Amino acid sequence: MKHIYFDYAATSPTDPDVVKVMEPYFYEKYGNASSPHALGREAQNALEQAREVLAGFIGAKPEEIVFTSGATEANNQAIFGVARANANKGRHLVISAVEHHSVHEPADFLETQGFKVTYVPADENGVIHPQVVADAITNETILIAIMHASNEIGTIQPVVKIAEIAKGKNIPFLVDAVQTVGHIPVNVKELGADLLSLSAHKFYGPKGIGALYIRKGTKLGSYLLGGDQERGRRASTQNIPGAVGLAKAVALCQENMIEEMKTQQTYRDRLLAEIPQKISGVKINGHLHQRLPNNAHFSFQGVEGESLLMNLDMNGICASMGSACTSGAMEASRVLKAIGLEDDLAYGALRITLGRWSTEEHIERLLEVLPSAVEGLRL
Ligand SMILES: *Cc1c(COP(=O)(O)O)cnc(C)c1O
Repeated sequence: MKHIYFDYAATSPTDPDVVKVMEPYFYEKYGNASSPHALGREAQNALEQAREVLAGFIGAKPEEIVFTSGATEANNQAIFGVARANANKGRHLVISAVEHHSVHEPADFLETQGFKVTYVPADENGVIHPQVVADAITNETILIAIMHASNEIGTIQPVVKIAEIAKGKNIPFLVDAVQTVGHIPVNVKELGADLLSLSAHKFYGPKGIGALYIRKGTKLGSYLLGGDQERGRRASTQNIPGAVGLAKAVALCQENMIEEMKTQQTYRDRLLAEIPQKISGVKINGHLHQRLPNNAHFSFQGVEGESLLMNLDMNGICASMGSACTSGAMEASRVLKAIGLEDDLAYGALRITLGRWSTEEHIERLLEVLPSAVEGLRL
């Protein structure tokens, strides 16, 4: 049975054109970018070209891009790097209550090492208000981390306003832009980010490669030690096929993003409109307008979300409760708790995320299957 895929926020299929350009870098152009011979130079050139493409896409300079194994590493590097570089300046971090685990857990760890962390609460739509961030800042604050858009409920944060506050206080500002890069316009200058993380597999590139943008002048300790790759900021042999694939994925997004946004938003709006018409006891989570064009997130009263996912799965539909990392564990989502959902609604969550290969037929099929699936589980 062919799957109907509604889990693009967890990962996306790799675009066949991306795989095509990667292939030679496994078999023929396999050099180590640090090697001083022809194959090494070829790898080095491919890497630097990929860096330029990515930098151009997000409004950065090539030397401000560090390739990483993904966004988890990029977020870890940003948080631990800033903490290490600024520990004698202060030991306080401000992060939002709706961050991804890869931001949340490094911050939690720093708390065990003598740092203080303020978790800025979200409103009922998942919005982090700039004034609340401003109020959380102390003389000791060395980092502010607020994601660009929520991977769970799709809310887009007022990052530009928060960046102005951070800049006014001279505090480095980390933006986790994993859900927005390749999906909506992202420009590091316009956003005002000092640090920004992204991941190729969330925008039709390969898994295992991402990047951290480090604005020139941002003080950051090196994360991985053991080599001077990436200008001494990230040791380890560079992932050339990954970087080449990431760059191709960027090029495809550059070409298609605006149109894809429109299509996905049409599908999303149909789900947001029709699901509450077809099913009773449903709540839409996340901001209605300030939200990702490809995210629809619901809570169904009196329904076990895990069971609903299994039911959809049996119908060939792949969806999610919100965070890939929390499903399986019987604890309600931290993000849904942060927006004030009662347990009943938090446990009955369903996240539908769309992408390049979503079709009208997929939407029709979901609208056909979901009502009886939900009602069946309520009996
Ligand atoms: C997927 C995701 C990450 C982690 O990215 P990986 O490259 O898979 O490590 C971080 N933040 C957000 C918001 C994500 O959606």
